[in-house]
Amino acid sequence: MAKKAETKKRVTKTADKSQEPKQPKKPKKKSDKPLWKRVAVVLGYLICLGVMVGSAVLVVLTMYLVDVTRDDAKDLNLTNLQLSLTSIIYYQDAETGEYEEYQRLDGSENRIWVDLEDIPQHVIDAYIAVEDKDFYEHHGVDIVGTVAAMVNEYTPIKLFSSKRGASTITQQLVKNITMDNSGSGIEGAFRKLREIYRAFSLEKQYSKDEILEAYLNTLRLSHNWAGVQAGANNYFGKDVSELTIAEAASIAGITKNPSVYNPYSYPENNIERRNDILYFMHQQGKISTEDYEAALAEELVLNQEIRSKSFVNSYFTDMVIDQVIEDLMEKYSISRSEASKMVQEDGLKIYSTVDPTVQSAMEQVMLNEPDSKGRTLFPTKENTYKLKDGTSVTQTPQAAMVSVDYEGRIVGVVGGIGEKTEDRVLNRAVDSLRQTGSTMKPIGAYGPALEYDYIHFSTALFDDYIQEIEDKNEPEGKRKWPRNYNGEYTMRLTPACYALAKSWNTIAVRTLMLMGVETSYDFLVNSVGISSLHEKDKDWAPLALGGLSEGISPLEMAAAYAIFGNEGRYIEPYCYTTVEDSDGEVILETKVTSVQALSEDTAYIMNRMMKNVLTYGTGAGLAPKYMDAVGKTGTATDDKDHWFIGVTPYYSTAVWMGYDNPATLTVNYGTHAPTTAWRNVMNICQQNLPKKNFAVAKGVEQFNYCPITGNIANANCPDQQVGYYKKSTIDSGFVTVCQAH
Ligand SMILES: [Zn+2]
Repeated sequence: MAKKAETKKRVTKTADKSQEPKQPKKPKKKSDKPLWKRVAVVLGYLICLGVMVGSAVLVVLTMYLVDVTRDDAKDLNLTNLQLSLTSIIYYQDAETGEYEEYQRLDGSENRIWVDLEDIPQHVIDAYIAVEDKDFYEHHGVDIVGTVAAMVNEYTPIKLFSSKRGASTITQQLVKNITMDNSGSGIEGAFRKLREIYRAFSLEKQYSKDEILEAYLNTLRLSHNWAGVQAGANNYFGKDVSELTIAEAASIAGITKNPSVYNPYSYPENNIERRNDILYFMHQQGKISTEDYEAALAEELVLNQEIRSKSFVNSYFTDMVIDQVIEDLMEKYSISRSEASKMVQEDGLKIYSTVDPTVQSAMEQVMLNEPDSKGRTLFPTKENTYKLKDGTSVTQTPQAAMVSVDYEGRIVGVVGGIGEKTEDRVLNRAVDSLRQTGSTMKPIGAYGPALEYDYIHFSTALFDDYIQEIEDKNEPEGKRKWPRNYNGEYTMRLTPACYALAKSWNTIAVRTLMLMGVETSYDFLVNSVGISSLHEKDKDWAPLALGGLSEGISPLEMAAAYAIFGNEGRYIEPYCYTTVEDSDGEVILETKVTSVQALSEDTAYIMNRMMKNVLTYGTGAGLAPKYMDAVGKTGTATDDKDHWFIGVTPYYSTAVWMGYDNPATLTVNYGTHAPTTAWRNVMNICQQNLPKKNFAVAKGVEQFNYCPITGNIANANCPDQQVGYYKKSTIDSGFVTVCQAH
């Protein structure tokens, strides 16, 4: 009570004093109090004021720190550290239905836990010597160093050298576990405060050994590797217990800046820092002069094999990570870096749609390795083009492949040719929009035209050009359009099924003309999920022949074509079903959306039309073994893009090939590469699957037709082919019997 009264009194006095200047000037009364007393009083006020403000700040800060660290009991739990770090991607085993591990993110190869007693003393010494030589003395924070560092950073005053005040091992551990890395300025100051507070609490809760063990297992290295065991395994191909003193110092040097001291990229930097660390170790009496000199002389010999073996994610893993990050950002309104951190560090369980058999078959084929005669499946001819600034760029042909199953699951994806050497590189199967050429015909022309009975299986249309268009490059200033790929017109009635198999452009355009561009466009956009069309694509050439303003991705083509193996049902493709957090709570779930794009009958008739592509059409002789299959080839103008989209009773697969900067491909047609690649992949991944056929639609009847008129054949028709017709079109008289023979 007394204290309170005193404070009050002083406050009153302070108030009085503040009014002083307003009062008329009084002659100075010198005599009352000696100068030292007056100074003492002022000082007393200041100290009290300081204590009050200080206490208030302290209360607010404490409240802040308690608030922001309220989840720490969970996050800073060193005992659970091992379990909470690794996110895992699962796949569903097709036979058992059980979920199995597909890949650990930042997992087994990247972070391998090792107990402290299995870590050699010189590894521990190396870290302590360079990062925190007072580790065993302090209580989590080097107070003097930290204050100096903060003064250095937030005031113009420079205390000590900049080296002073580096975080202690305990503080670094806090940073590694919490990933609390917010920037500079005031945000950075608050981060530092949180870090200090947490470092103190860690030291209260855990022993020095527990802290050291957690630190040595979570510290950052290059390649996303973390911990000394991962470092020993990867850089030196050894167990941590086998590291030499020099190797221990090499690894210890990386943590400060994993890219600058990455021994693979910058061996000189690494050696220089290694030698500094050896010097500290020697200075601090951790190693003998003999050991020191021997270690300095030791050559840096890195394990090249592990490095080249690469811990690079598959295209599928990249895709799933990207998708999960996008979905987390959207659902929880968080930033990209927060979402990435969740994926990398929160031990998520991602239930993906990958089928490892399909994925690895694709990866194998897409390596494009030469056979015994040195021939590769995909062409390798280099092409050079010039950038605007005149520099030349040389490129080799690229390719992409992606498969979906009939539940819409993306089961395999490879976004480039050759070995994948980096994470998050361009995935051409998902991210590249390319001209589709004739693969457009089944979805832009024949499919919807069959659905709405503008044509039937063998409707005969005239194979001749439709119009002449201006073209300055032609001798007569104009050319015939559309042009068939061989440049000829038979001037005959040609059944739709035959024209599709042979990929005649004239008949595809005539089919589109019967239906109109609006119907086609609406079908592509609203029924089969093509998202990259534009208003100006509402025209004959884009919708029938695939000369699009932007193009379509292989993934969207595969998903669209799935309707021909899936009784007409379109499903928006997805790469995971659910994501759980480390407690098993579902945090993301894919909502599967599907559309009956075509009737079952139309889908089956189209399926049978595309069967001919692989029997006598443009993909003749390239049908895979084991299972029925249908598909469509495509080549864009000037041979810049080659496609095949293949449909089996299990998978719909799109394969694209071309230069990244579109240029004419020089290819050998004998081995149509995309079709062959698809066949090879299907031969691998379908060989052990149960035999299955496409479902036969109940509303479809099979009749022989007359290829000359396209009508149902009568006994006198000289030639007869098998055709498939909706019962309704026969009942209505749309399909008639041949009268010409
Ligand atoms: Zn006939």
